[in-house]
Amino acid sequence: MVIVGRIVTMDEPVTAEALLVEDGTVAAVGTRDQVLALAGDRVPIIDIGENVAYPGFIDAHAHWIGDRDRYGVGSPAAAMNAALSRGWTSISEQWVNRERLDELTKLAAEDALPLRVDAYLALNEPAGGQHFGDWYADREPGAVTNHLSVQGLKITLDNGWGTIVNWEPADLTGAIGRANNAGWQVSVHTVSTEAHEMVLDAFDAALGPTGPNPLHHRIDHAIQVTDDQLARIVAMDLATVIHLDGAAADWVLEPEYLDHLGPGNRGEKIGWLARWRDFVDAGLHVAGATDTPWIFPGLALSDDIGRPVDQIAGGMDGRGRANPKTPASVLDQLLTAEEGLRAVTLDAAYALGDESRRGHLAPGTLGDVTVLSGDVTAGTPDQIRAMTVIATIVGGIPAHCTEICSQFGN
Ligand SMILES: [Zn+2]
Repeated sequence: MVIVGRIVTMDEPVTAEALLVEDGTVAAVGTRDQVLALAGDRVPIIDIGENVAYPGFIDAHAHWIGDRDRYGVGSPAAAMNAALSRGWTSISEQWVNRERLDELTKLAAEDALPLRVDAYLALNEPAGGQHFGDWYADREPGAVTNHLSVQGLKITLDNGWGTIVNWEPADLTGAIGRANNAGWQVSVHTVSTEAHEMVLDAFDAALGPTGPNPLHHRIDHAIQVTDDQLARIVAMDLATVIHLDGAAADWVLEPEYLDHLGPGNRGEKIGWLARWRDFVDAGLHVAGATDTPWIFPGLALSDDIGRPVDQIAGGMDGRGRANPKTPASVLDQLLTAEEGLRAVTLDAAYALGDESRRGHLAPGTLGDVTVLSGDVTAGTPDQIRAMTVIATIVGGIPAHCTEICSQFGN
């Protein structure tokens, strides 16, 4: 297929007029004349008109399929359609136990995954303290099919408010060390400063204090981080995955969190929350992910939760679906539209260890494209929130599309 129109590549050249996808992969990016000449006559063309195309958006941390019950979705297909209709071409399932892995593997075998799913195998129960052992050890990480990858392992180190730690330091260090030695990327749910201290010690034991970090081990949520901890994250080059729709910043408003702060220096501790700009300015890879449905308490799928445009807009003004007022503590941490866009493309792909193939559009990358009704780099946060998804294209196939894809019969 050929896509013709304004294309933001997140690569060089920064924008293009046309894109050719062959056999699921980008074959050419360039001017309209160049690409149409290469494509020949028989290749279907999608003219996006005044709309704007981006590298397919990647939700690097969510539970669209696994926790669909929480937002009243009955089937994996409905959950994936919800993600596609919001413009996600890849979703990462961040807590996959044996049962969920069986479900995903079966869907993949039946060719019933219309988008890409990157699964992270769970090493412990998020609540209740049960650990599952190294059950991943009889397999290798990596692609199962074109659309399913068993990418990494998931450790839920503390709970949502950072008030309960699920691991002993020695057990955590052992588990991360064994995973690292076996070539598995580890994603660690880490909220509190206490949990960050523990996971940084564990990564330090596996990688050394200055890295490098070739497997892209990740710290997910990264809610409350001290200056010293930030310096250690930078030194080891750990990937960070945060939630830019404002929800991370509402921790300071919640009684569970305030209780946890204790009587000490509250101002300083609140300053350690949601350090989005500090992460970006430090040169970290910072992915913006929805964590759907967990960070939208009281909201249903019909409330339009979990959209990439809300990640970008929320990074700019600190407002979110579950938290419409900007918390004062995040005012000095806001991002630009370009940084938000990077967080759901290039850096989200990095968090999944697939930055060579996803998150940008260039010859050889996957033909995953999201078309929005406007240019996010030129929009205000509210203009970005108002943009609609015109097409979600996975491997050159329109998986969700409006009338611009009529020649594809959908
Ligand atoms: Zn999560």
